[in-house]
Amino acid sequence: MSDSLAGRVDAVTVVGAGTMGHGIAQTFATAGYNVTIVDVDDDVLKTALEKIEGSLEKLGEDHDAVLERLETTTSDEEAYGDADLIVEAVPEDIDLKRTVFESIDDHAPERTILATNTSTLPITEIASATDRPNAVVGMHFSNPVQLMEIVEVIRGKATDDDVFEAIQEISTEIEKTPVLVEKDIPGFLINRINLRFWLEAVRQVENGEQDERSIDAAIRRIGLPMGPFEVLDFSGVDVATMAAKSMRDRGVDLHVPDLLEEKTEVDKHGMKTGVGFYSYPTPGEYSRVDIPRERRYDFDPKHLLAPAVNEAAWLLANDVTTKSEIDKAMRIGMNWPRGLLKMADEYGIDRLVETLETLRERSGWDEYEPHPHLEEMVSNDECGRKSSVGFYEWDYEQTTFDTVRYERREYVAWITLDRPEALNALDEPSWEGLNDALEHAANDDEVRATILRGSGRAFCAGDDIAEIQSWESTEDASEMIENVLGPTVETLRNHPKPVIAAVDGVANGGGCELVLLSDLAVASPDSDFALPEAKIGALPPIGLTYGRMSLGKKSIMELALTGDQLTATEAESMGIVNYVVDGDQVADVARELARATTASGPKSVAEMKDFWTTMEDDLLEDWFDNAMGRLVERTQSEEASEGLAAFLEKRDPDWQR
Ligand code: NAD
Repeated sequence: MSDSLAGRVDAVTVVGAGTMGHGIAQTFATAGYNVTIVDVDDDVLKTALEKIEGSLEKLGEDHDAVLERLETTTSDEEAYGDADLIVEAVPEDIDLKRTVFESIDDHAPERTILATNTSTLPITEIASATDRPNAVVGMHFSNPVQLMEIVEVIRGKATDDDVFEAIQEISTEIEKTPVLVEKDIPGFLINRINLRFWLEAVRQVENGEQDERSIDAAIRRIGLPMGPFEVLDFSGVDVATMAAKSMRDRGVDLHVPDLLEEKTEVDKHGMKTGVGFYSYPTPGEYSRVDIPRERRYDFDPKHLLAPAVNEAAWLLANDVTTKSEIDKAMRIGMNWPRGLLKMADEYGIDRLVETLETLRERSGWDEYEPHPHLEEMVSNDECGRKSSVGFYEWDYEQTTFDTVRYERREYVAWITLDRPEALNALDEPSWEGLNDALEHAANDDEVRATILRGSGRAFCAGDDIAEIQSWESTEDASEMIENVLGPTVETLRNHPKPVIAAVDGVANGGGCELVLLSDLAVASPDSDFALPEAKIGALPPIGLTYGRMSLGKKSIMELALTGDQLTATEAESMGIVNYVVDGDQVADVARELARATTASGPKSVAEMKDFWTTMEDDLLEDWFDNAMGRLVERTQSEEASEGLAAFLEKRDPDWQR
């Protein structure tokens, strides 16, 4: 054993043998400490030992050896007289806790470290019941202790550095992960963040804006193991209500939703009473709630993330903890796939600030006021991944290829058609820029997926009509169509990474064809899709050929013969896009799909894409070349000259009936 304060700890006393106490005792004994459990009730102690034995058996531990290290008593003197570390886990009542600490102070040796497992009470207030507040520290385990890895270590106002450090070291010794909370604030770290996230979910339901299942589906979609209502039911609606009220009563600006209090009052505590936000067939027994996956885009997760990030900003600005501790707490404590602040950087700090402002306007509550730390980040252009720095620094590259903007944010290439004044219509520099941007992404091994989108209100309005009209000969048309457009189509088809079209606005003609050539596509409800080339006397070469891989004859012909604009929902049911999601979520869902494709090995992805392209080549490449030849001819036809003129003069062509 080392000579540090933690190294000198061998005898541990756990006060209270209830839900938490027996788990804490088992954890210490399993790690090799000699443990005494003290309770006021002999029967409780007996039950605790039985529970420990059962749990050790389940976990496959050598229970004889562990049980040998465990003793029980109802005598304070026996329990505290020779303890190196005491962990208190009696009910959450400040007077009771203070009485227990007075007794500890009377009996425990000077060297003893005094820890409390309180969830909501101030460490400092508990410590003041003793004559040695410097020896008192928070050690907040999660339930069930045997399984939950996280322990919040909380510094009281008077806690000695070596006591704070010893608890960190001991937490690691018992195979837990400590999260350091440097100030004794209401809710500590995990509850403060969780409650912002959960309460916002409850408010959305309370206001009638959403229902539980769509919120839970959306939160599962971003990788969290359970949605907020599943978690509330699992850990106890009453427990969350109590924690929220306690934070509010201790001065935190936080509204406790009536819905939460009402459920608590009528014993709808969740799994343990058989009903909470959901119903459970056997009270006390966990059963997985049926959350329909197809509802996952009905709710925008950033409405819950924004208040949680705002709370995190407060914690950072007040030196309560660090970024890495916050992210560790959410990853390990709540099993999030990534930390909260990593997610914040993905969404963009500016967008989270906007969300907070919307929430504040809607409610009139100051609790949503964006923290100045976040506002400062926005004004310094530290918005996250898209500006290379946010809470973290990110791998980032930005360049332009003609009219096309290229950004690499970590492993995703964002290619943006950037002629918003022309609805991103594809003129020659745009086709060339797109080609170069795609090649740039293809040649960068760091890029795992490519997102294609348009700036402003459009995805892409198609080929540049004025440019087509300027071609004076078949040679001019062929120069552009066969030497520029054709090769770009090939570059896109042969792109070795998944290509995801993010459509928010018009996707007409060549724009619609780019969507057809993409591997996946997401669109906002305001988007529309059309292949109107024949309206100007031309034809859609990609729609008629490679479009066949997504659409059947009736769909292609409807698009190509009528030139009608289809809604995003119609495009979705036809198979042009995978999902229609609200406009503010289009880029997020594209990013999520990009991440989801990284589940596949990059070489498998390239192989599958090559397989598909080769298959298309066999079936359709000659026909594509044929269609391109016909397009060249068509652009120089009399019909096209009338069609192009009519389009630019905003009138009907002379063939229209
Ligand atoms: P519990 O009611 O299950 O157990 C408390 C035990 O303390 C009981 O066995 C009781 O007999 C005993 N006790 C009461 N007075 C005592 C005294 N003077 N001396 C010795 N023993 C005494 O409570 P719990 O759920 O284990 O919670 C204990 C503490 O842990 C609370 O501070 C709670 O906030 C905190 N906590 C609970 C959870 C949870 O999910 N239950 C999670 C984290 C933290």
